[in-house]
Amino acid sequence: MSVPRGSERGVAIDNDDPSGQMRASARPCPACGVTSSRPAFVVHGHPHVRCTVCTTLFVSPLPDPDRVRATYLQPDYHETADASIPRMRSEARARARRCLELGARRILEVGCGPGHFLDAARELGASIEGLDPARTATAAADRGHLIHAIWLEQFAPPELYDCLALWEVLEHLPDPAASLAIMREWLCDSAVLALSTPSISGAPARILGRRFPMISPPDHLELFSQRGLRTLLERAGFTVVSWSSFSNLDAATLARGVGRFLGSSAIARPVARIAGAIGTIPARLLDRAGLGTSFEVYARKR
Ligand SMILES: [Zn+2]
Repeated sequence: MSVPRGSERGVAIDNDDPSGQMRASARPCPACGVTSSRPAFVVHGHPHVRCTVCTTLFVSPLPDPDRVRATYLQPDYHETADASIPRMRSEARARARRCLELGARRILEVGCGPGHFLDAARELGASIEGLDPARTATAAADRGHLIHAIWLEQFAPPELYDCLALWEVLEHLPDPAASLAIMREWLCDSAVLALSTPSISGAPARILGRRFPMISPPDHLELFSQRGLRTLLERAGFTVVSWSSFSNLDAATLARGVGRFLGSSAIARPVARIAGAIGTIPARLLDRAGLGTSFEVYARKR
């Protein structure tokens, strides 16, 4: 099945600037803050550069802010394949349990989307609210969750939280350090910061290069290296408690990826299903080695 260009984030790739004159812009590294970077490649018309100090990959110059926000507000933005929902719910339950183990009782999730984590945390007895201007979050509001349907710069919480959850959020922010500084003010002392974000340090990113699906401007504006993300959190006033790598590669997701190559013949579907199941084994090994597609990090406010 062919997919219209632009409807599947991170797949279409443009050629490098043929003039060879693409230069690093003045945008400092969103992770470590230095201004030294070198050109990497162009994807969807957006030049990417790599920080020479921490190797974080980022879009530079930044796209128009209105375009970034319009991308996030597209009605199908949080659309998820039905087959992946059980994995997402199970992941949300594990994350909620971890937050509560660290002492979280009053949680704010920024970028809550359809609300799997909200559901999981509430089921475990935590008080939780969501902040998300996207229409998808209305489904969570319909299930009785308190949703602040605004951008984070517009938010002023009436009380402090003891946990802030940022699942797949940092990579969308034009200035993650500035946003973390704002959100840190919403937290009480020693509050938990729980987050996940794509990794440019993992094996999939290294092998696939600019074809790594997480490189998807203007949706993703930076992909952190391990060193870069640690530096960002330190600069923002958080101390890392635990750090792991994961890949979101369940059998259904892998089977869909294989199926794209095999087409729609009668034999293709069972072959893709078997290949998907087998493919979860190396994916788990990569995660254990810290080389998965994404980071999952728990930190505390200093
Ligand atoms: Zn850097």
